[in-house]
Amino acid sequence: MKHMKWWGWGDEDKEFDLSDKPALWPYIVENLEVDPDAAKISHPPICLENIRLDPPKRNEPFLAEIKSKIYTDHRERVVHSYGKSFRDLLRIRKGQIDRAPDGICYPESEQEVCDILRLAHKHNVVIIPFGGGSNIAGCLEAKGDRMILSMDMRRMDRLLEVDHPSMIARIEAGAMGPALEKKLNDAGMTLGHFPDSFEYSSIGGWVATRSAGMTSDKYGKIEDMVISLRLATPQGQIVTRTVPKSSNGIDVRHLCIGSEGILGVITEVTMQVHPLPAKKECYGYLFPDFESGVAAVYECVTKGVAPSMTRLNDPTKTALSFAFKTKEPFFVQLLGKLVKQYLKAKMDFTKVALLLVGYEGNQKKEAHAIYKKHGAFCLGQRPGRSFQKGKYDFPYIRDFVMDRGAIADVSETSTLWSNLLPLYYKSQKAIREAMIKVGAKPYCACHISHTYRTGASLYFTFGCKGTDLERYLAIKHAAEDSFMQNGGTLSHHHGVGYEHMPWMEQEISSMGMTALKALKQGLDPQGIMNPGKIIP
Ligand SMILES: Cc1cc2nc3c(=O)[nH]c(=O)nc-3n(C[C@H](O)[C@H](O)[C@H](O)COP(=O)(O)OP(=O)(O)OC[C@H]3O[C@@H](n4cnc5c(N)ncnc54)[C@H](O)[C@@H]3O)c2cc1C
Repeated sequence: MKHMKWWGWGDEDKEFDLSDKPALWPYIVENLEVDPDAAKISHPPICLENIRLDPPKRNEPFLAEIKSKIYTDHRERVVHSYGKSFRDLLRIRKGQIDRAPDGICYPESEQEVCDILRLAHKHNVVIIPFGGGSNIAGCLEAKGDRMILSMDMRRMDRLLEVDHPSMIARIEAGAMGPALEKKLNDAGMTLGHFPDSFEYSSIGGWVATRSAGMTSDKYGKIEDMVISLRLATPQGQIVTRTVPKSSNGIDVRHLCIGSEGILGVITEVTMQVHPLPAKKECYGYLFPDFESGVAAVYECVTKGVAPSMTRLNDPTKTALSFAFKTKEPFFVQLLGKLVKQYLKAKMDFTKVALLLVGYEGNQKKEAHAIYKKHGAFCLGQRPGRSFQKGKYDFPYIRDFVMDRGAIADVSETSTLWSNLLPLYYKSQKAIREAMIKVGAKPYCACHISHTYRTGASLYFTFGCKGTDLERYLAIKHAAEDSFMQNGGTLSHHHGVGYEHMPWMEQEISSMGMTALKALKQGLDPQGIMNPGKIIP
């Protein structure tokens, strides 16, 4: 099984490439106050061999009965210790792993999953389901004195069945984004789910964390796509019926969606799929300011004009996007300069907001008219093309700046349209103030990337000089506190894990917590499933 780099994001052989983006490093140096020498790595990750792990705990009666192979080598244990949150990476790069899983198994069938869970329940062994390992909410952290087994689902990756007339596909939970989408495309279909982490995340993980992809405006969030599922719990299986809709009391399917491995292991999902779009286009528009962009996006939503992707950057995020610009041929550069000169005469470039819009149908004419009405200038397809080209490379930049002694992370929420700008202003202020309080130059950017009739998501990117957890946590806490105090949610799509757990009661009320605890107690009385996540 090929793993992501244990110390960071993505393929082990791939590094973030600055060479074709001349404006990017000066922009980062100015905003994150790092050493101008981009070649100088001041904070490299520790060597894998130097990470010290306690010897694996052995539950002998369990090991005597289990038939599945269990891997205990150093690299496997390190790779399965954490997800990819900033907190995870900060610790693993320093070799700080207090508790690694004691073993890793790779089940190949639902029966094998059920057998392992039955034995784990019998012998009190903890199970942590593992998809792609890409979560950023502390969903995989091992805790406690019992033997802990990480259950890596990636060998269960088959597309089991496609029902063309009904447009549904039955899929094993360990299927990873690119391979799954390829199989569906070969059958003339798409799932329409493309999170930024698409290349290294699994469908089971998406469903377990209630993920959102960049074309959610057209295809919905992952929970909108699940028709039915199968969840293996320590005490038996939950199986829901594959029907379009039903009135069958409390929706058990939705109790399993978002359960982050604390109730059981999702072994199979049946998903709504869609015909492959005949054409995909992505355009860029420049608005005079973020507020006019928000007004335009809102008008599109209320009028039912729904592009497949809407990504509206605030001025700081717009400046970051411009800094990503790659070297271009002379004539393109010249044309770009002329357009910029023309726009600079009309717009204040410190306030402009870049909107990237994906079209898969006939919405372009109507959307274009609405954007123009709100003062936008259409930049054509060039910004869209470069976004599409680099969209899965962007996450590599976090490792690059961490190597050079900087903090870079994201926090996201959603709220109603009536509260969108107030929450944006307040949270941005709270994040910036938290940075100033810890003595850092504040950098905070934001974009909107998922819209609904009732509201939208707000996705904050922040960064500053620093390598210590306390400094980072002060900023992260300020962001989450601000979301909760000002009408947002603790997370729109990253989930809870243990990192967002402190805000759970505020989010769902204390009776809501009581309901969750009862559910957990009923399905997993010994608490063997991914303990310490969602519920304290
Ligand atoms: C750079 C980057 C970009 C990201 N972009 C996005 C984005 O655009 N949209 C988005 O929604 N998220 C995004 N994420 C977060 C992350 O990719 C999602 O949370 C994703 O859904 C996790 O899937 P995974 O397969 O990697 O799950 P993992 O990280 O392996 O697991 C996540 C949780 O789900 C549980 N789980 C996994 N598989 C199963 C299963 N079969 N049964 C039961 N429980 C299971 C695990 O126990 C754990 O609690 C991003 C993360 C990074 C690092």
